[in-house]
Amino acid sequence: MRNALGLMLASLVSAVVIAGVWFWNSSPRADAAAPQTIAARKAEPLPPQAAAKPAAKDDVQVTASLTRPAPLAAPPVAPLPQKASCANPNALGVARTVTIDTSGGPGFGFEHFKQLDFLTDKEVVLTFDDGPWPHNTPAVLKALADQCTKGLFFAVGKHATYHPEILKQVLAAGHTVGTHTWSHVNLNSKKMTEQQVRDELEKGFSAVKSALGQPPAPFFRFPQLQHNPGAMAYLGTRNVAMFSTDLDSFDFRSSNAEQIVNTVMTKVDKLGKGIILMHDFQKLTGEALPTLLARLKAGGYKVVHMKAKTSFDTLPEYDAMMVKDTSRLPQVSSRPVSSVVQTVAD
Ligand SMILES: [Zn+2]
Repeated sequence: MRNALGLMLASLVSAVVIAGVWFWNSSPRADAAAPQTIAARKAEPLPPQAAAKPAAKDDVQVTASLTRPAPLAAPPVAPLPQKASCANPNALGVARTVTIDTSGGPGFGFEHFKQLDFLTDKEVVLTFDDGPWPHNTPAVLKALADQCTKGLFFAVGKHATYHPEILKQVLAAGHTVGTHTWSHVNLNSKKMTEQQVRDELEKGFSAVKSALGQPPAPFFRFPQLQHNPGAMAYLGTRNVAMFSTDLDSFDFRSSNAEQIVNTVMTKVDKLGKGIILMHDFQKLTGEALPTLLARLKAGGYKVVHMKAKTSFDTLPEYDAMMVKDTSRLPQVSSRPVSSVVQTVAD
């Protein structure tokens, strides 16, 4: 009995001692962090000062790395150059950027040009015509920026002279800017002389250059996709790539944004890829774009950003014409105010 009591007491003392030792050794680390956090933390590099600090106790380094989140978030000593950050982690983005050698005037878009099949399955190119235009072009730019993706804009020369600051925003956002004639006439019309066709083409490029403050890409789209064979041959000599489309959004005749989204998604799902024709000039396009881009992303589509290898080489006579056109804007009277406004009665 006495022996048994002694054995029980001895066991109890042992248990208390073992528990005490276990508590002493394990509690500081157990309180600090869960195991999965340790693994996560260990993957992060320690800042040099923390790594170099001598350990006062054998577990200090581990504890320090677990309980000092702020130094761990410090930037590295020599930061690597980074791409422009995208605030949206689920953005559509840009999967691939291609540069186009426009020598001889290549054609893109299977509705009219079937030689250059450069898009792979699920790849799309976003194109926008007829801008720049207040409200509508900025709405398109915002939707593209929200998805960190890039498009190709075919600007109308006249519109570029009306709203050069908007076209500058398009370029500044990293999109490609091509042209779409001076005044959006049908270049295939029988009424157009060869000279008038050339004027429309060249003035369009010079006007866009004047608005941007730099030459645009040698990329062109015929208004209404009306391809004039003579104009095509001429654009070839000017080393301008011509863009038709693979699928038309018909945004200009849609009655609501949902219809635009459905038209594009139905067509792209059928084709599997393609150059999409839209209009930043149209109000509904800017409204449809957030949903459309999200649907493209959800459908596994990837955006290809098309850039030109070289910029367009404008002709000096058309650049000069542009200056003249600008100077024809309504003049503000230069007469002194006293000769214009006279007080006749107090
Ligand atoms: Zn157009």
